[in-house]
Amino acid sequence: MEIQERIEYLKDEINKSNYKYYVEENPYLSDFEYDKMFAELKELETKFPMFKTPDSPTLRVGSISEKFLPHKHKYRLYSLDNTYNEEELKLWYERVCKEYEQELELVCELKIDGLAIALTYENGLFKLGVTRGDGVTGEDITPNLKTIKAVPLKLFAPKNLEVRGEIYMPKTSFEKLNQKALETGEKVFANPRNAASGSLRQLDSTITAQRDLSMFTYTGIFEDPIDNKEIKTHYEGMQKLTKLGFKVNPNIRLVKNIQGAIDYCKEWETKRFDLDYATDGVVIKVNNIAIQKDLGYTARAPKWATAFKFPPEEAATKLLDIELNTGKTGIVTPVAVLEPVHLAGSVVSRASLHNFDEIKRLDVRIGDTVLIKKAAEIIPKVIKVIRNAQNHQDLPIYQAPTRCPACNSELIERENEVGLYCSNPKCPQVVCAKIEYWASKEAMDIDYVGPALIKQLYDKKFISNPIDLYKLTIEDLMQLDLVKEKSASNIYNSIQNSKQRPLNRIITALGIRHVGKETADILVGEFPSFDALKSATLEDLCNIEGIGDIIAKSVYEFFRDEENLKLIDELIALGINPQAEERTKTNKLEGKTFVLTGTLSSMTRDEASDLIKSHGGKTSSSVSKKTSYVVAGENPGSKLDKAQNLGVIILTENDFLEMIK
Ligand code: NAD
Repeated sequence: MEIQERIEYLKDEINKSNYKYYVEENPYLSDFEYDKMFAELKELETKFPMFKTPDSPTLRVGSISEKFLPHKHKYRLYSLDNTYNEEELKLWYERVCKEYEQELELVCELKIDGLAIALTYENGLFKLGVTRGDGVTGEDITPNLKTIKAVPLKLFAPKNLEVRGEIYMPKTSFEKLNQKALETGEKVFANPRNAASGSLRQLDSTITAQRDLSMFTYTGIFEDPIDNKEIKTHYEGMQKLTKLGFKVNPNIRLVKNIQGAIDYCKEWETKRFDLDYATDGVVIKVNNIAIQKDLGYTARAPKWATAFKFPPEEAATKLLDIELNTGKTGIVTPVAVLEPVHLAGSVVSRASLHNFDEIKRLDVRIGDTVLIKKAAEIIPKVIKVIRNAQNHQDLPIYQAPTRCPACNSELIERENEVGLYCSNPKCPQVVCAKIEYWASKEAMDIDYVGPALIKQLYDKKFISNPIDLYKLTIEDLMQLDLVKEKSASNIYNSIQNSKQRPLNRIITALGIRHVGKETADILVGEFPSFDALKSATLEDLCNIEGIGDIIAKSVYEFFRDEENLKLIDELIALGINPQAEERTKTNKLEGKTFVLTGTLSSMTRDEASDLIKSHGGKTSSSVSKKTSYVVAGENPGSKLDKAQNLGVIILTENDFLEMIK
């Protein structure tokens, strides 16, 4: 392709993606792909300036819609130059330091992946809130911003200033919003950023008020002369904003030079997954405000700041096949087989497609180019089909299977359940998956007994249920491929030792529908033996706090099923009949709900959680108005911010230990 033609192509693609991203909130490219095209365009325009035109997207910021009243900004808002590369960060630093012949102090901040806004305060009162728009003009969304708790309506001092911040939606709220949208057939957002933007740019502010939005403030333009005199650095400005009542991200750090900034970027490349908000990089800013002013701006971005972007969490790749797996409940789940692609630090070749309804909703077809996303430790999932890519319409529509991929039995639907299930209770895949679950870490935690060993034992007809594991002899095990006397005896001992596991683990291992580890803990807390569980009525079970009707029914039915009762009798005959440990030491914490965040020095979070429960308290994974205390260890996550916002009492580890002493 000719250079000029390539430039035109890139401009066109970038402009189209801008519209999709900023106006329709429905991007069809991943940010990484967009950034790659943008960087290529910038490079070509630098090398061949004769082809650079004034309408180039490299000279502009964002985009503006006609949905709201336009408002011309008093101070222009800019974008940020970015890089994915450490060497380029060093070059940027060399450039900015060169003129001053000294190392410049820097401030590192997490780059929050949300929506930029500018807020105007007069005499300490919130007057106006405007989106960044194209940097010169934004959209006036003042009423919507007033619904967000992290946007103070009145400051702690009657100041005049403009602040800039990023509106974001916590990851957990985003998942919930999308889940609800899936159920009601409403718009599903591609990522938390689009969800924040879509929720904020609503014509009806009561809708915004229902969405969980928050804001981190990252810039203050102080208009009172006294402030201007006092505040000499960006870092001091941030401290001032905190004192005035703004929420500044607690992970801000002052560093001496670029090496400090690089260390910060490396640290947060993985730590960011523990946060409940999306960050797509680190913003590095020269700390000294006089030097910032001196360095100034390009047409699009400040010269005194740059962004280091983390490796992409989203990537586009080709869907090669849809593989089907039958799980322990008989459910058949589709898994995407992908052309291998780099994503957030690893190579991904498989991703979740959830269920067949999701395939239908996304209209995913084998051969499509799809966008995949990896969030926190969760396995990557296919989030959309890239429709403008080539041949979607020519590909055959995917048809859900009618027969089990493992045993060819008919697939059936179950009442009130999404998904298709194998109708054969003796399906080899279901049987093996049940035994795998029994032996798994979460359940009976039997070392050496994994899927491959279980498959061999099943194929050689040694086992057809978890109980059979306990009947295996060393001689049986030595008949397996590659198993010699020593390993046979290790496997044997490991299986026999698991007989000592406590009741909550056995209840987990039984694989009762809807009963995982947490629920098993609750059940055993109320009914501390097999006998007690067997005699519990449906009403008893429904009355347990934390157990809903569906779980109660499932547990009740499990203990009425002849096969299951036979299995429990066999367990007892094998000597597996534990009573729950005496759990409650005191009832000191009765009625109190705790949320744990950060790393505790004297115990793991699981141990802390057990300790709370043993004193009659409860734990929860998210902070709400009902939370009694948040226990904050080292490097606490966003739960701490939420607790501060809601006025929940925050305990240090020592406070907590004192409390239960
Ligand atoms: P940007 O989001 O990369 O960087 C600038 C923005 O960072 C600021 O406006 C501000 O909102 C935000 N920010 C977050 N934390 C900050 C902090 N601590 N300090 C300062 N600013 C902070 O740039 P942009 O101009 O908003 O958007 C361009 C980017 O958007 C692209 O690099 C790309 O990732 C994405 N984009 C993607 C598509 C697509 O199709 N996928 C299309 C357009 C844009």
